[in-house]
Amino acid sequence: MIEMKDVNKTYPNGVTALQGIDLSIAQGEFVYIVGPSGAGKSTLVGMMFREEKHTSGSITINGIDLNKLKERKVPQLRRNIGVVYQDFKLLPRLTVYENIAFALEVLEESPKNIKKRVMEVLDLVKLKNKARHIPDQLSGGEQQRVSIARAIVNHPKMMIADEPTGNLDPDTSWDIMQIFEEINAKGTTVIMATHSKEIVNTIRKRVIAVESGRIVRDESRGEYGYEI
Ligand code: ADP
Ligand code: ADP
Repeated sequence: MIEMKDVNKTYPNGVTALQGIDLSIAQGEFVYIVGPSGAGKSTLVGMMFREEKHTSGSITINGIDLNKLKERKVPQLRRNIGVVYQDFKLLPRLTVYENIAFALEVLEESPKNIKKRVMEVLDLVKLKNKARHIPDQLSGGEQQRVSIARAIVNHPKMMIADEPTGNLDPDTSWDIMQIFEEINAKGTTVIMATHSKEIVNTIRKRVIAVESGRIVRDESRGEYGYEI
């Protein structure tokens, strides 16, 4: 489902963020990406949904060879990938309902299907009662739950989360992790870049550690491995 062979990424300013990345992630896995700040974690996950283009090597995502992917086909790649960010990236003027429905409306679903599916995912993240609120009226944890609902509303094969608990307090972070585990239990691949030692060492999953642009460790039930 994700295959990277000898992948390198050099940004236009000359900074080499990743070198010689070889990686294989199967459908249904739960994978943490860990490492110090500036190691290349965001670049690594960003290449999985073509937020960032790799410079050389090969990447295959859900059977799509990114070296052959035309720009106009990028939305097709992203349709199968839900993305969750540290800062939520909700649309501030839209309600919770509309923020989630928006992701389906661009796919030209029928209004009836949209409503059914939006209410299903709001139920999963336990926010049905906040459907008419705007993001500013919600706590950080609630906003992150909306962004998770938006990410999965289209039944993606995989979910990519870049520091999803980075702005949340510990209790709220555990709630978010529980939702990720439920999503993963239904067969969705979850890839999560994180700085949370507590989470990685408690909810044990595969750990891929990146340092100075290289994979230095890949363990099936790994530990965080850094002090902070
Ligand atoms: P991490 O997510 O582990 O903190 P990043 O992937 O954000 O690491 O960054 C890896 C390296 O690439 C760093 O040296 C960073 O400064 C550099 N970098 C990240 N994004 C850009 C960019 N858009 N342009 C130039 N350099 C970048
Ligand atoms: P109920 O029938 O119990 O009111 P609904 O499933 O109709 O529940 O809606 C639940 C919540 O979602 C309500 O707050 C409702 O206002 C909101 N909602 C439903 N459809 C829309 C929509 N198209 N736009 C905005 N909010 C909606």
